[in-house]
Amino acid sequence: KDFRNDVRPNWCPGCGDFSVQASIQRALAALGKEPHEVAVISGIGCSGRISGYVNTYGFHGVHGRSLPTAQGVKLANRDLTVIASGGDGDGFGIGLNHFMHAVRRNMDITYIVMDNQIYGLTKGQHSPTSAHGFTAKTTPSGNIENALVPSQVALAAGIGFLAQGFSSEVNQLVSLIEQAIQYKGFSLVNVFSPCVTYNKINTYDFFRDNVFNLEKLEGYDPTDYLTAQKAITEHNGLVTGVIYRNDNKVAYEDQIPGYQETPVAQANLELSEDVFAAALKEYA
Ligand code: SF4
Repeated sequence: KDFRNDVRPNWCPGCGDFSVQASIQRALAALGKEPHEVAVISGIGCSGRISGYVNTYGFHGVHGRSLPTAQGVKLANRDLTVIASGGDGDGFGIGLNHFMHAVRRNMDITYIVMDNQIYGLTKGQHSPTSAHGFTAKTTPSGNIENALVPSQVALAAGIGFLAQGFSSEVNQLVSLIEQAIQYKGFSLVNVFSPCVTYNKINTYDFFRDNVFNLEKLEGYDPTDYLTAQKAITEHNGLVTGVIYRNDNKVAYEDQIPGYQETPVAQANLELSEDVFAAALKEYA
């Protein structure tokens, strides 16, 4: 299975998003998926281009709206593996409301965020995940807002599968994406994915020095909510690995009566002549 296509990404050389693209491709191949079994839905931003860079069905939507679109795709065809993807501005700025409701709703889709703490496509403004004091074009004297910590928000909202990765740790990232796709419910993989062009603070070195890999913590139990909460708080969200998982949640679509039998995408939606005539009469 080859999830590569002929489209050459126009990301800057060294952008962390290349590793995310490769990790998604590797994870899908390792899971034995076929390209026609997968849909990648993205929003707007540098990272939003990813839906055109993998050999699957793809939909490049509007800013902050990858999740409602992805949920619609999943509802229409439960047989698809649905991945929503985009950046921190897309997902945790304009799209934050959709994120909270997607977590609450718990459809079986995987959300992969390329979190670079800046708006790259629009050339370097601070984003919702930029740290307090962060300097960018819009915050030359330092950011006076506090950063949103995606893992904290996701856990508080009741997410069933929460993981974080780092673009430099591709093997771990592949494994995290595989586990997230296999999880039956809504899963988030938030990836520290440096913007080498505009973010001179949160660099590869910054993450190498500051991110704590929970896989190195002996006895770490991701099924323990309080343990996950403590890990996030202690490291101010800068942790990688599977932070939390709850395998007792039931996916949204598994609770819809009759949904399992016939995905809408495969149903015969043609109206019989009788039904059509009755509808015409009613609305005449
Ligand atoms: Fe990547 Fe930043 Fe370049 Fe966008 S501007 S492609 S995020 S390095």
